[in-house]
Amino acid sequence: MFNKYKKLNEIDSIKYVKEKMDLFGEDENLISREIGDGNINYVYRIFSKDRSSSIVVKQADKKLRSSGRNLDRDRIRIEAEALILEGELAPGMVPKIYLYDEIMNCIIMEDLSEYQIMREALLDGKICKNFAEKISDFLVNTMIPTTDLVKSPMEKKKMVKNFINPELCDISERLVFKDPYIDIEENTFQEDNKVFVENDLYKDENLHTEVLKLKNEFMTNAQALIHGDLHTGSIFVKDDEIKIIDSEFAFYGPIGYDIGNVIANLIFAKIRNLILNRTPNNFDIWITKTIKNTLDLFKKKFYKYLLKNTEENSIKTKGFYQWYLNGILEYTAGAAGLEIIRRIVGEAKVKDIETIKNSELKSKGERLGIAVAKDFIIRRKEIKQGKDYLDIFDEKFQEELYNEKI
Ligand code: ADP
Ligand code: MG
Repeated sequence: MFNKYKKLNEIDSIKYVKEKMDLFGEDENLISREIGDGNINYVYRIFSKDRSSSIVVKQADKKLRSSGRNLDRDRIRIEAEALILEGELAPGMVPKIYLYDEIMNCIIMEDLSEYQIMREALLDGKICKNFAEKISDFLVNTMIPTTDLVKSPMEKKKMVKNFINPELCDISERLVFKDPYIDIEENTFQEDNKVFVENDLYKDENLHTEVLKLKNEFMTNAQALIHGDLHTGSIFVKDDEIKIIDSEFAFYGPIGYDIGNVIANLIFAKIRNLILNRTPNNFDIWITKTIKNTLDLFKKKFYKYLLKNTEENSIKTKGFYQWYLNGILEYTAGAAGLEIIRRIVGEAKVKDIETIKNSELKSKGERLGIAVAKDFIIRRKEIKQGKDYLDIFDEKFQEELYNEKI
């Protein structure tokens, strides 16, 4: 029945999984709910009435879920192939993929409803034990094996070709590297931050230069297969387990882009908590440690991974290793800054800041984020360990607290 493309609805999605999977009986009474909360795709959760079995179908329609604009459906192939590879490289850290259907542009996958989206967990003030340990495993184990340090040159180039993702990269190139730095109506922020944003983002040519350098590297450095959109809304958590979803932005790009995104999104949680609570609490202690450990554990595991897996002289030749690592660290800091800025002023906001109700506190949160982010970008060559992020954060936090003029 589904041998020609058709945009699903809840009723069709039941027929679809019955046809494609033998998880449910032909006459079984099933319920389907569209649970997508993103701007791009449709996600259906289909479950039996007694809730004993369930499954998720993600479909990429030609038109975006939100604006109706066209977007290449090849994105769902990229998502499926990236998730399958990530599942092989980091077992258990992505949902199980049962089927990728290139005609219907669907992925049928494991239902993770028992998990919680990490951003929501953080908004509830929950501590995600072991997060730094887990995410650093994911980052090292999924990215490093795809680099030229580990893969053969022929295979690597085939991979680069397979994961060429022009339309989704175009979205990032625009939303991350361009729009937040020009005065356009899509940018929104607190009214009383208008002069601050004009001076500090729109008119800062030195910043623009650095952002363009980072953009150029995003477009040209085919370093590793990266996730491309690794924010806390793409991470499910439960106890001390994590599962990564939504790899449709995957392509061969700079390793630091993913690490920086993770750090930036942890920083949003830190800003929100500090702004709302003023004095450091247990959540702050945990999130601070997690920001630091995410980078430091990445470094440690990266070195260990290379010791075991590289045939190149890349690790024995100390100067080369140090240069390669420094490149990752520098890009990580830049990417963290870019992500913070684009999610404060740009089109795709984060709830962590967006839902601060008190207008004065929200303004402070926006300014603090932007000030921290600018330093991450401008001073990225000096930012080499987890603690460096925290030092810059503390410096800016003190300024924001005590200098009422800012
Ligand atoms: P989009 O590409 O549109 O951003 P996502 O992959 O981020 O879509 O999924 C949107 C939402 O659907 C997620 O935030 C999550 O709530 C839900 N979702 C996605 N995949 C699953 C899954 N495997 N199990 C349970 N819920 C899921
Ligand atoms: Mg998403």
